[in-house]
Amino acid sequence: MIRIHALSLASAGSPFEHTTIERRELRGHDVLIAIKFSGICHSDIHQGEGDWGQGIFPMVPGHEIVGIVTAVGSHVSTYSIGDRVGVGCLVDSCRKCEYCLSGEEQYCKRGAVYTYNALDYEGNPTYGGYSQQIVVDEEYVVRIPDTLELDAAAPLLCAGITTYSPLKHWNAGPGMKVAIVGMGGLGHLGVQIAHAMGADVTVLSQSENKREEAFRFGANRYYATCSKSAFTELAGTFDFILNTVSAKLDMDAYLSLLGVGGSLVNVGLPAEPVSYNTFSILPRKSISGSSIGGIRETQEMLDFCAEHGIAPQIERIRADEVDRAWDRVKRWDVRYRFVIDMTTLKQS
Ligand code: NAP
Ligand code: ZN
Ligand code: ZN
Repeated sequence: MIRIHALSLASAGSPFEHTTIERRELRGHDVLIAIKFSGICHSDIHQGEGDWGQGIFPMVPGHEIVGIVTAVGSHVSTYSIGDRVGVGCLVDSCRKCEYCLSGEEQYCKRGAVYTYNALDYEGNPTYGGYSQQIVVDEEYVVRIPDTLELDAAAPLLCAGITTYSPLKHWNAGPGMKVAIVGMGGLGHLGVQIAHAMGADVTVLSQSENKREEAFRFGANRYYATCSKSAFTELAGTFDFILNTVSAKLDMDAYLSLLGVGGSLVNVGLPAEPVSYNTFSILPRKSISGSSIGGIRETQEMLDFCAEHGIAPQIERIRADEVDRAWDRVKRWDVRYRFVIDMTTLKQS
């Protein structure tokens, strides 16, 4: 076993503790990664605070992981020591079902193994990226393109793929009117990606505060949803709405912004169930969801971001600042992703 330092939560809502955890000895196809940076996703907070039900504690969150390969198992063929790599939300899946075979491991029939707050197929708890090192099978590791800075690449491993995957699936591109609801960690990447795909992009944000930055990320239009006139003005406008908001929204109000046959896709995962009136979808409108993205698509997204110069705007923090960063995310006080420098995790 490899013993390493980590930040863990003893129970739902407790503050972070500095602790040690064990990583497995390398198997044939395993890669050992020295974690350099770990992004803070709102899903970390939902799980750490019990928003989605009982979690597995102690919990070491973190599924936006980048680092350097420091050792490889005897059968590893894809990666070598020194490579810049990333790990997202998945560390294993059945590898046999139709979804695994088509590269959509997130929909694995057996249930994919998530990077933390999960049990692997041997029944051991998984621990995430708020830690010094991680051991992952090479099939679930991606390569960070040379032109992406390592710290800024971290949020792409969850926020990037979670917005890229539905935008691609629903064919965002020239001539398509896309709205991104909520411009946080996911949303500010969604704006950049949709713009790079050629879509006409509107940001729907709670306030006026992010207007200038939205245009810098490539938005064509910006509306503050605190103003009810936005909903009258935009009625029937969009082909596709991507909802990235971490809290419950009025679905009927947002469905009214779709044109006939349009789709509202939820990636935000509030604690409470959402509801809508069936009359709101009668004009052949769809309401759907989307979960992260598969490993192949994650690599494709990283390459796409490198090619189009897309990167998150990050605020880099030390390992002893994570509690405060979580509080700030909950108050929407982040522009636009916190990334923890994991090399600042003290060794004692
Ligand atoms: P985030 O950085 O906190 O951004 C969420 C944004 O939503 C905020 O910046 C804010 O944007 C808006 N918002 C928050 N509360 C609101 C409220 N009460 N009313 C209206 N708008 C509100 O969070 P994130 O990391 O981007 O994650 C967003 C959500 O996606 C979370 O629920 C997370 O768990 C989920 N997620 C899902 C997947 C998936 O696979 N489906 C993957 C990753 C994350 P404005 O100020 O611009 O309005
Ligand atoms: Zn995430
Ligand atoms: Zn499977």
